[in-house]
Amino acid sequence: VFQLSVPLNFLGSVYRELRQSLLDMETLFNLQKVNIAVKDKPNAPALDLRKGGEIRFENVTFGYRPDRPILQNLSFTIPAGKKVSIVGPSGCGKSTILRLLFRYYDVQSGRILIDGQDIRDVSQESLRKAIGVVPQDTPLFNNTIGHNLRYGNLEANEEDVKAAAKRAKIHDIVSSWPDGYDTMVGERGMMISGGEKQRLAVSRLLLKDPPLLFFDEATSALDTHTEQGLLQNINSILKEKKRTSVFVAHRLRTIYDSDLIIVLRSGQVAEQGTHEQLIDTGGLYGELWSAQETLFVEDKDKS
Ligand code: ATP
Repeated sequence: VFQLSVPLNFLGSVYRELRQSLLDMETLFNLQKVNIAVKDKPNAPALDLRKGGEIRFENVTFGYRPDRPILQNLSFTIPAGKKVSIVGPSGCGKSTILRLLFRYYDVQSGRILIDGQDIRDVSQESLRKAIGVVPQDTPLFNNTIGHNLRYGNLEANEEDVKAAAKRAKIHDIVSSWPDGYDTMVGERGMMISGGEKQRLAVSRLLLKDPPLLFFDEATSALDTHTEQGLLQNINSILKEKKRTSVFVAHRLRTIYDSDLIIVLRSGQVAEQGTHEQLIDTGGLYGELWSAQETLFVEDKDKS
């Protein structure tokens, strides 16, 4: 019996690893409803985050159809440990950048580097393990809330789950339901609002605690007050852990405090800098900011 326990433990951890990566893949496939066509090189090594997660796009050109490029000769650097936001008009290729970083697709020319490694040279499993994403629309599995959150990290215990849910501003809501964390959700369970789903996705991400965090319009369904509270919590976690994070956002009020803002137009960097620098420049960002501020003041006057 004693002799057997070692291989069984070993198998247990292999099983957990396998299950975790299958679940990640499952989540990812569901997220974007795409078939991943890219292949690992033979014996591709694991991604090594030796510099803390610096992301570089070097002259990247990409289109879903080769004759219709979305990103054209695009270059920018996201420094390790910083909060960087990508903004720009609808359809300019913001979410495409996140999809390329996941390597759902390969670039047509140029390259994408993470800590100096071309993402085509490392194993996809290690790449996707290093990344956590809060997508525009979060898939929920037909299971309990607790189970759905633990998809982020199968090792998490009840306390970890609650702590993450508190930071994601969803714990009080879940606790108010008769079955709490045992409430069934998904197609056959309770209906969950868009804003609740987004907060569950943030909880899941906090439990996964990956080195690279992407937020794709992650708080768009929340009211301004809840959104501000959640963003403050996310910011303090990012600062505390010095994580590289990339935000894609329409509402500039949610990202103006970024270390760097990259403004895209027609698949190229139109301008980049901090909020103050971009306002001083008086370019596209300045225009978008003024337009949104006018709307914001009008909305406030109405309510
Ligand atoms: P938004 O701000 O509206 O979310 P975005 O800047 O994030 O837009 P993307 O989602 O990156 O833009 O899309 C860029 C362009 O690529 C758009 O014209 C879009 O229609 C097109 N596109 C996106 N996904 C696909 C796909 N799977 N196949 C073909 N074209 C696509």
